Amino acid sequence: MAGARPVNDGAREPPAGLAALLAREGPMPLSRFMALAMFARDRGYYATRDPLGARGDFVTAPEISQCFGELLGAALAQAWLERGSPAPVTLVELGPGRGTLLLDLLRATAKVPGFHAALALDLVEASPRLRAIQAERLGAFAPRFHDRLETVADDRPLLLVANEFLDVLPIRQLVRTAAGWRERLVGADAEGRFGFLLSPWTVPGPGAAVPEGTVIELSPAREAVVAEAARRIAARGGLALFVDYAKDGAEGDTLQAVRGHRRVDPFATPGEVDLSSKVDFAALARAARARGAAVFGPVTQKCFLEQLGIRTRLARLAQGKPPAVAAELESGVHRLLDPEGMGTLFRVLALTGAEEPVPPGFLASERVP
Ligand code: SAH
Repeated sequence: MAGARPVNDGAREPPAGLAALLAREGPMPLSRFMALAMFARDRGYYATRDPLGARGDFVTAPEISQCFGELLGAALAQAWLERGSPAPVTLVELGPGRGTLLLDLLRATAKVPGFHAALALDLVEASPRLRAIQAERLGAFAPRFHDRLETVADDRPLLLVANEFLDVLPIRQLVRTAAGWRERLVGADAEGRFGFLLSPWTVPGPGAAVPEGTVIELSPAREAVVAEAARRIAARGGLALFVDYAKDGAEGDTLQAVRGHRRVDPFATPGEVDLSSKVDFAALARAARARGAAVFGPVTQKCFLEQLGIRTRLARLAQGKPPAVAAELESGVHRLLDPEGMGTLFRVLALTGAEEPVPPGFLASERVP
């Protein structure tokens, strides 16, 4: 009933027909629902908004502290020097958001002799909205945009960063039933309300005996992008750093929806909430090893940033600053290192060539056998 809706309440309107489109498609795997809700052209979450920052739905490490991008830059530049300063070299960011990490990274590495001259900047970004912001903020570095890593030139070494990129990629969820594993589907009822149902068919899943009702998550999309990075680095050398919200072994269902910094129902308003889930780094490490890369970690974000010298960097930044500015710099870094929060929830996985030096921020003993 159109007349029942208060006028001027545009904010509550579902994004042009996305819910209707999803309902029309009928029950679909969770992975397809996530892909459509997040990236449907003109209507998905990322097509319609810039979700980052205090006024957005969530805030990420580079938006919290400039030290994050600066130290990732120091790590990549050091790795580049240790590999004999190859030129040309590709710098890729997967999902650069507002471009903040790259701005900090590039500023921090501007004085490394020859580094910027050797770089070609390639950005893998699905959101037209965010591409426009990245193009504006990073214009001086002439970035090229890609829908996928596959189209980036692969005839040279690769330096790659990805922060909170993998957690947005779609996942499948399987549920153990008496008959075997079934796929979790998303469907709509007669009123258009979305919810989970189980596939009537069974699907292949792990063989080990687990209690009925156990949920597992698989992400072919994550494994594919990590495998592609690993293939390139195994062939040409380089370093990839994946930073993300990590899953612990025993966790089952980790799907979460966030709006305005609050947890919400993942199905209430498709296309208007950020959907993500925790990353199974062990599965990704296996995928990368299978492509011939050396894998390090995952280590906690706290360990990694401390190893790279974040406290020294902070002290230098804060020196001579007005107390209020120094306090803000400190609080940002403490948030990144918080052992009860981001410092341990986030982990870092590194990929390098099999015979290349240990990545900055890691120890030789952190190499995955
Ligand atoms: N790395 C940024 C942004 C994280 S949000 C930061 O730390 O602030 C996730 C980013 O990944 C966004 O830029 C989003 O548009 C992009 N993204 C998500 N899924 C993608 C996909 N399948 N292909 C390309 N980009 C994607």
